[in-house]
Amino acid sequence: MTHPNAAVKSRQVNPSERSSRVHYAIRDIMLVAAEAQKAGKQLLRLNIGDPPLYDFLTPRHLIEATHQAMLAGHNGYAPSTGVEEAVESIRAHAGRAGIRNIQDVFVSSGVSEAIEVCFAALLDPGDNVLIPSPGYPLYEAALVKLGGEAVSYECDEQDGWQPNLDDIARRVNNRTRAIVVINPNNPTGAVCRRDTLMGILEIASRHGLVVFADEIYDKLLLDPVTHIPLASLAPELPVVTFNGLSKTYLVPGFRIGWIIVSGEPKNVEQYREAIAKFLRVRLSSNHPSQFAIKPALEGDQSHIPGVIEKLRKRRDLTVSLLNSFPRIKCVPPQAAFYAFPRLEIPRSDAEFVKDLVRQTGVIVVPGSGFGQAPGTNHFRMVFLPPEETLQKALHLVGDFIHSWS
Ligand code: PLP
Repeated sequence: MTHPNAAVKSRQVNPSERSSRVHYAIRDIMLVAAEAQKAGKQLLRLNIGDPPLYDFLTPRHLIEATHQAMLAGHNGYAPSTGVEEAVESIRAHAGRAGIRNIQDVFVSSGVSEAIEVCFAALLDPGDNVLIPSPGYPLYEAALVKLGGEAVSYECDEQDGWQPNLDDIARRVNNRTRAIVVINPNNPTGAVCRRDTLMGILEIASRHGLVVFADEIYDKLLLDPVTHIPLASLAPELPVVTFNGLSKTYLVPGFRIGWIIVSGEPKNVEQYREAIAKFLRVRLSSNHPSQFAIKPALEGDQSHIPGVIEKLRKRRDLTVSLLNSFPRIKCVPPQAAFYAFPRLEIPRSDAEFVKDLVRQTGVIVVPGSGFGQAPGTNHFRMVFLPPEETLQKALHLVGDFIHSWS
């Protein structure tokens, strides 16, 4: 008798074509960093926007609320749309921020899941979504996954990185379904002015588009600027607001985000039902950590001024050092914890960033991973680390760029 395995042939598993079009530069650079570390370099990580990796401690009452929820037995699946106390707290919080005509609130596994679910519920293959350039790369990756198309619109570096309304208007076509606004923006730290937001809403209204407002950094304002929730300016238009606990509340690992659908009830009814359907098939978001939402939004906020104070000092140090180096120019970020300096260099930012990590151990992310105007080069760095680390890392960058060619 022949061995049963004789007939078994092992074949290579070919990944999908679409997987070759997904890039996430923020983590991709880690492959090069790992080689540098093996070769003996000490790594200085300025690549990931994860506050608890640095000296930003999770507020204790959020840990306790989650712990208590587990002890109280909230360890099964949660309702697909979110636990009631969390949903009500988000709704009330959004109402206080001026968002009216709220038709639904859903809790998701971070804004990351919210983006995918809301795109899946809206788009057919070949539809496109206008996304900011520079902007957070997950939007493009989510579109690749769903067979949608990302159409980049320009944020204007000469205008403090405000979205360029003419460019947005020019790029709308008959397959456009939505516009994404990241406000405050990752990677530029820009906060949209009221006239910019009004202009975007006007274009959306003219073409019947949904507006996605990613406002996850709305409370991390480092300058005396006002953040205006986009949905608050147009209660009648279909706006989907994304927010969550990851950044302001220092718990990215809790994986808690949410979706607020606002607009004229009859115009969003079918869409919100489609979102709910996709949420049902993925069962629920993390159950115990949803119990941190109400204490986060309604409880002690005293950590926030401390976070802002630290970030402001680190931002100021970062911008003044960057702008003191030759061949680097940085528009000061007004919010969040990222800087997106421009490089006057002879080769691409991707090559620059790879050489930088190999030779100095400093990890930043190439601007091409976020989108940038053709012919320009940038990198994104986080200024979450303490001043000493920033000083050390930035002086290495300054020395390196001096001699890099
Ligand atoms: N949106 C923006 C603009 C971000 O910068 C990030 C994370 O860096 C996310 C969404 C993802 O957030 P979450 O942790 O809620 O999935």
